[in-house]
Amino acid sequence: MHETSMVMSILDIVKDTLKTHNASRVTQITLVLGEFVCVEPKALSSCFEIFAQGTPAEGANLVFERISTTRSCVNCEKIYEKSDEYNICQTCGGKIAFSGGREFYLKSLELESEDSET
Ligand SMILES: [Zn+2]
Repeated sequence: MHETSMVMSILDIVKDTLKTHNASRVTQITLVLGEFVCVEPKALSSCFEIFAQGTPAEGANLVFERISTTRSCVNCEKIYEKSDEYNICQTCGGKIAFSGGREFYLKSLELESEDSET
């Protein structure tokens, strides 16, 4: 499933980051999710809960940041409002296309180090 592979890649990054920072647990994970990314934050969260069990990410809080789409000229990159009716750039005559909204990446992790346990 789509969500499963996303969760697996998140957990991979978590594992690597914990090793790099010598931390034992992750408490919060912030994900950036574009408007066009076909995933339900709710579905991703519940999938994450299942796969995070028994890992250092168990019980971590998932935070989603949604990115909305913009319209811009493919030629000169001038930004247009979504409500604008133009299909052709008023500056250079280039094509106006949707951009952004397909992002999916891990923005930040909040870690807990092993020192706090003792
Ligand atoms: Zn243009």
